[in-house]
Order: sequence, then structure tokens, then C-alpha cells
Amino acid sequence: MLTLFENKTLAVVIPVYNEGKALEANFQEIHRVFIEDGITCHYHFVDDGSKDDTWSVIEALSKKYPQVTAIRFARNFGKEIALRAGVESIDADFYLTMDSDLQHPPSYVKAMIETMARENADIIDGVKASRGKESLKYKLFARGFYSFLKRITGLEMNDSSDFKLMNRQVIDSLRDFRERNLFFRGIVSWVGYKVVKFPFDVAERQAGVTHFNFAKLVLLAMNAILSYTSKPLYLTIFSGLIFLIFALILGAQTLYNFFFGHAISGFSTVILLILITGSMIMLSLGIIGVYISRIYEEIKRRPRYVIDRRL
Ligand code: UDP
Ligand code: MG
Repeated sequence: MLTLFENKTLAVVIPVYNEGKALEANFQEIHRVFIEDGITCHYHFVDDGSKDDTWSVIEALSKKYPQVTAIRFARNFGKEIALRAGVESIDADFYLTMDSDLQHPPSYVKAMIETMARENADIIDGVKASRGKESLKYKLFARGFYSFLKRITGLEMNDSSDFKLMNRQVIDSLRDFRERNLFFRGIVSWVGYKVVKFPFDVAERQAGVTHFNFAKLVLLAMNAILSYTSKPLYLTIFSGLIFLIFALILGAQTLYNFFFGHAISGFSTVILLILITGSMIMLSLGIIGVYISRIYEEIKRRPRYVIDRRL
């Protein structure tokens, strides 16, 4: 038993989506490592509306292991919401969030707990020291995304992951977030508290393939930006100002030509102007539209997720 956890409980929250094939073996591996390292904990699965036999695997696990509980979403709500539902639906003194595919190696957890005790931290934040077997496209995208995010939100989240150990206070603060759309990593770093970064090497995925294709990643990135900042809205004002300056200069020139007799011969300027202003207006409207759709979604106050079953 690790000293930090004397008389304290640890909940390990694991979101799963269509992981039926490898889940049992992966769970047994996690459990084996934890027993070896003297970590006693409770496992809490969130079945994110899997379409395969994931739920029956979890049911079987919970029959075999009394420390396994789970909730099942009525449909796929996505990992961000699954993580949040997971930490909200179980009581513990400490919470660990990890992937089910062993890419967040359980062998690091002992050191994470020790770091938490030593540094008296509230959050141990797993950061990817090496990104394992990821395609170059993914790596470049992730790098570009995080530096963009840092520029516009000021949040330093480079190589961040959902492999995190948090105490109860942090989770209690997350419960106060009323928004439907959220970026789990983002709100965890937004709430503050004492965060200690913990580098780990991402392992290779055990069975199956990643659920995040390029399109889903772009959506995740957009979600992260939209749920954090309204700065893109100000960009539209900025571009508007630039075009106003152009308009003034060209307007003055046109009037000058008009009054002094040499009317403009070329239509190219007109065409260019229409094209440029038109696209700027459409772009700005688009940005405004995205935010309005967000407001609309939030204002409906729908439940953030629907739980179908509990174990
Ligand atoms: N996951 C989930 N809902 C989803 C997609 C993924 O709960 O809609 C889970 C998945 O089962 C896994 C974890 O989130 O436990 C990480 O997913 P994945 O390995 O596909 O992502 P990657 O490691 O490639 O980022
Ligand atoms: Mg994975």
C-alpha cells in the first residue's frame, strides 16, 4: 500500500469504445501491474455506446472482480464526455484517467502516485515524452495545433494527454462546469491548482486501431478552441478594419479620378475588391455562425450524456 493512499480510495476511470477484443486482456494487464506495485483501487469503466461486445466483457469483468463498476452511454458521446461522466459518477479521494488500450502504461502509475505525494500536487499531468507509433501527419498536426492553441488561449498543453492523476478537489471543481461541449484536458489545466507534469512514453496500441481519424482530430481541435476562447470573433473585426483602410484609400483615388476627368478604365480592381471583401464577409459570418451554433447548443440545456445502464 502506497503511503499517499492510506485509508484513501483511488478510482481508475477508463473510457472504452468498441474495445471488446482486447479489453479483458488489457484490464488483466493493468490489474496485474497495480497488484504488483501495491496499488489498490476501484475500476470504473465508461462504455461510450460501443457497438460490439464491450459491454458484455465489462459485465463479465464486474462479476469476476468486485472492484469493477461501469456505466454505459445510450450512444457514442465521445471520449471527452465519457471521461467527465466517469469521474462524476463515482466517489473517491483520488482519480486516475487512462486509456483502455495500454497506451497509457500502468507501470507509470506508481511513480505518478509517489510524485503526487512528494510534491504535494493536486494534478499529476501525463505528458507524452515520446509519441509512440504515430503517423508523421498526426505528429505535425498535434504540434501545430498545440502551438496555435497556446498562441490564442495562452494554455500550455504541448503533448498533453488524458493520462492524469487528480485529487478530489480537482474533480469537484470540474463538476461545476455546466457546459455541454468540453475539452477534458483543457478544463483540467484551466481550473489551476498545483500541477506537476509527468513525462511518459506512449506505448503501442494493443489490438484494434485508433478511433481518432484525421477528421475527428480536426473536430477535437475545433472543439478545444471554441470552448476556450472567442478570439476568432475579434479576428473578424480586425480583418474588417484592414479592409476599411483599403476602402478609404481606393475611395479617395476613385473620387479624385472622377472629379479630375480620368474615369477608371479597368474593371480588375472592382472584381478583385468584390472577391476579397466577399470572401472576408463570408469568413466572418462563418466564424460568427460557429459561435452562434455553440450558444444554441448550450442554451438548450440538454443533458450532457444519457446513461443507459450501470453496474
Ligand atoms: N474512446 C472513447 N470514445 C470514443 C473514442 C475512443 O471512449 O469515441 C476511448 C477508447 O476506447 C480508448 C481511449 O478512448 O480507451 C483512447 O482512444 P484511442 O486509443 O482510439 O485514441 P488514441 O490513443 O489514438 O488517441
Ligand atoms: Mg489509443
